[in-house]
Amino acid sequence: MTGCLCVAGLGPGDENMVTPEVRAALAEATDVIGYFPYVARVAPREGLTRHGSDNRVEIDRADHALRLAAEGARVVIVSSGDPGVFAMASALFEALEKRPDLHGLDIKILPGITAMLAAAAHTGAPLGHDFCAINLSDNLKPWELVEHRLRLAAQADFAMGFYNPRSASRPHQFSRALDILREECGPDRLITFARAVSTPDERITTVTLAEATPEMADMRTVVLVGNSATRRVGPWVYTPRSA
Ligand code: SAH
Repeated sequence: MTGCLCVAGLGPGDENMVTPEVRAALAEATDVIGYFPYVARVAPREGLTRHGSDNRVEIDRADHALRLAAEGARVVIVSSGDPGVFAMASALFEALEKRPDLHGLDIKILPGITAMLAAAAHTGAPLGHDFCAINLSDNLKPWELVEHRLRLAAQADFAMGFYNPRSASRPHQFSRALDILREECGPDRLITFARAVSTPDERITTVTLAEATPEMADMRTVVLVGNSATRRVGPWVYTPRSA
């Protein structure tokens, strides 16, 4: 048997947002690897081993997946959303860089619907013009760099999506991020807090920067900030396609 390795995105939560391509890869897998809650989204069945692991062990997880695939297993590494957005696809290639003997392995990256785009769709079209995505976590980069990118993106009038906005271990940083946004964008700019998008707990709230408080975000929230033309239309928020 020849092994293979897919890195698949499960989308933001709703099973209807899992692509048929990802479904097919999961149906043929012998091993599913990933963070516990994501692995739990794959139903158990005969012939499938589910390997759940803790957060922050991405490289170990990728090494494990490479070893299994090299031995002949059909392995799927699962990520939430899209695997290329602050997730396992890059971790896999980082591990692969150290294993030139495995560069010929059958590897596929299967895209998924990322949280930012699912949140935007449920809000209207807040990312309808140029936009960028920033991970606000300083786990893998210095906080100064987060601030620098945030400021420049705001000055360039991008609409923005923020992942990992706020966690219990770094409660002050998101507060600082809001201060920077108020300085650069003024008090009236629209900001959307989209929590647990496409799950039964979904809650989407749009306010102005003046009204925004750090407590509106947690680790299940993706935050969208409009550009200078972003506005409300009825219950929706949209950004015009022209600047
Ligand atoms: N690969 C994932 C992102 C992983 S980083 C993707 O493409 O969506 C984890 C962060 O994603 C969370 O802190 C949160 O900001 C965001 N996120 C993931 N799922 C979400 C959901 N259903 N609703 C809102 N935000 C979500």
